[in-house]
Amino acid sequence: MQIKITKTTAPKEKPFGKELGFGKIFTDHMFHMKYNREKGCWYDAEIVPFANISLHPASTVLHYGSEIFEGLKAYRTKSGNVQLFRPIENIRRMNNSAERLCLPQIPEEDALEIYKTFVSVEKDWTPYDEGTSLYLRPFMFGNDESLGVHAVHNADFYIIASPVGSYYKEGINPVKIMIEDEDVRAVRGGTGYAKCGGNYAASNRAGERAEQKGYSQVLWLDGVERKYIEEVGAMNVMFKINGEVVTPALTGSILPGITRKSCVELLTKEGYKVSERLLSLEELTNAMKDGTLEEAWGCGTAAVVSPIGELCYKDIKYTVNGGKIGEVTQKLYDTLTGIQWGKIEDTHGWIVKID
Ligand SMILES: *Cc1c(COP(=O)(O)O)cnc(C)c1O
Repeated sequence: MQIKITKTTAPKEKPFGKELGFGKIFTDHMFHMKYNREKGCWYDAEIVPFANISLHPASTVLHYGSEIFEGLKAYRTKSGNVQLFRPIENIRRMNNSAERLCLPQIPEEDALEIYKTFVSVEKDWTPYDEGTSLYLRPFMFGNDESLGVHAVHNADFYIIASPVGSYYKEGINPVKIMIEDEDVRAVRGGTGYAKCGGNYAASNRAGERAEQKGYSQVLWLDGVERKYIEEVGAMNVMFKINGEVVTPALTGSILPGITRKSCVELLTKEGYKVSERLLSLEELTNAMKDGTLEEAWGCGTAAVVSPIGELCYKDIKYTVNGGKIGEVTQKLYDTLTGIQWGKIEDTHGWIVKID
């Protein structure tokens, strides 16, 4: 695969040592390539100076929401190297998302080469401070210059990168979560398992309402019966109930998180009883009432794990594990971040080093 590289003539000052936040500062370059159905392939792959994108006002993405994305991080190890965590999983998931939205596939080997080449060019932007990383945001959208509703003929794929701060600057504080029984995020047969912008658009209203009430996220119920637990905010969710670690099964409306998958694999290997199954709201509320809910946490690339200290359902508040981070949650955090930042040896083949 040929990737043309045009370096910027005006490199920006790196913001290291300053407050990074999340997704506010961007690096010097971006990756871009185009797809055309008649050509039948991706073309004009290039790394160019970071700049605004110009679109035709009728572009498909602006009207019909044809957009998918990924999120992964490059981590700086103590010896100064830069590495990725399970990028092949992001590449496969993006192809699954593309299939759902009728956007084009990117061959796995090409995508991996693109990721590695781009990160190699932007490597110096990977921050050094504890807990910081270089967040990568690959995204693809339909870009036909016509209002007709039809299969996408032209698409664009980009990767942008942003140095991000530690998710836990003031230590890991358990969050308060509101159980949402009105809006739903996704339904089976819909796009819940695809990482697409539209799912986020549909989630905004409930998230905003929860925030107004002093909660940081909502716990989503299934879109058909509003009976089963699905996800928490934009993270997957796990519970430890009476010794068993339970996470909702991937029924089609749940995003198959790579952190979720890694947690399941690590805990299974450690000998925990881990079940991917349906978990009803009734089972969860019973476990909260009789004290068998031992731990609850969200998991995703941004936070790694986010302990849940309080759950609220119909104005009844339940405290989880005395509002403190649990033993399993802490262990998952230590192991995953240990592997990602190279403090623990990777025995799973999850790490991809960048030259
Ligand atoms: C991205 C995402 C997750 C977490 O996936 P990771 O691969 O672990 O980062 C979970 N739920 C939703 C809705 C997401 O968009």
